[in-house]
Amino acid sequence: MKIALLTSGGDAPGMNAAIRAVVRRAGYYGLTVYGIERGFAGLLNGEGFRPLNHRSVADIIHRGGTILRTARAPEFCRASVQDQAAAWLREQGIEALIVIGGDGSFRGGAALQERGLRFIGIPATIDNDIYGTDLTIGFDTAVNTAADAINRLRDTATSHERVFVIEVMGRCAGFIALASGLAGGAESILVPEMEFNLEEICRRLLAAKEHGRSHSIIVVAEGAASAMKMGEEIKKRTGLETRVTILGHLQRGGTPTAADRILATQMGAAAVDLLRRGENGVMVGYVKGRIEPVPLAEVFSGEKTFPAEAYELAHILSLY
Ligand code: ATP
Repeated sequence: MKIALLTSGGDAPGMNAAIRAVVRRAGYYGLTVYGIERGFAGLLNGEGFRPLNHRSVADIIHRGGTILRTARAPEFCRASVQDQAAAWLREQGIEALIVIGGDGSFRGGAALQERGLRFIGIPATIDNDIYGTDLTIGFDTAVNTAADAINRLRDTATSHERVFVIEVMGRCAGFIALASGLAGGAESILVPEMEFNLEEICRRLLAAKEHGRSHSIIVVAEGAASAMKMGEEIKKRTGLETRVTILGHLQRGGTPTAADRILATQMGAAAVDLLRRGENGVMVGYVKGRIEPVPLAEVFSGEKTFPAEAYELAHILSLY
């Protein structure tokens, strides 16, 4: 069996570890993996199409980003483009496709599956917003990067008795904000999934100041509000010295954590195992501590539940 492999959507730390695991697990069983560069964009012109072997994926397990590079290719949503890509893959003798990316990328894979290719998706996005898997590759690293930044900003917040508003990534989801805010002991965490009241946040900031608290950290998910606007408003309403930091793309890069490398390694190997078992049209999920196949229909059917209890806990622990 010839397998094609690509990374698509936003890059996530750990994608390389997944590539390595796919190539080496496949090699172990005598299967050949062909890499395609720049996601579905590369698939349209055969960019970087080449066999990958044991050596091609040496020394990458610890590297952020993706050696196959990634891209967004909106034109791949068109049926005629999908027909063309499926025909090209068949011409190359490719029977199966493994895509490492987010649920948008899996829709591209599903379109090729409808055209006769076998497809397996490996969930990789720092946002952890894919339904059907408790964890995605890259989330743990992004959370650790954000938590580390919060630690550093806490030092300066304490020294200067300031309020720090820190904006983290997550697109429309608040998972990075919640996890990094919990780990960083934030006073307030603003996420798109939960309502917040700025007046109450300001009241709590002033109460904390009265109790002798020298600093405050507010973590804002990019999908919840603009940290800039929040910072200005807080300063205006409380008179407290306020600074804003937007972590931005810092959260995407960097060496993956051990947890992400292990998850990526297990998921990459599982993708090949699933193909060998005859599975098709599934995502490799991490469900209650186990790696298992999740049908794409299920992945596309729901929205991940926000852990409201953990959110409440963070809120309670910061009350005076
Ligand atoms: P991330 O969560 O990191 O953004 P993602 O995979 O969800 O990752 P998208 O930008 O949604 O990112 O999708 C990546 C690529 O997948 C798109 O640029 C496009 O090539 C392909 N794709 C997305 N949605 C579809 C669709 N409905 N049909 C076919 N292809 C799609």
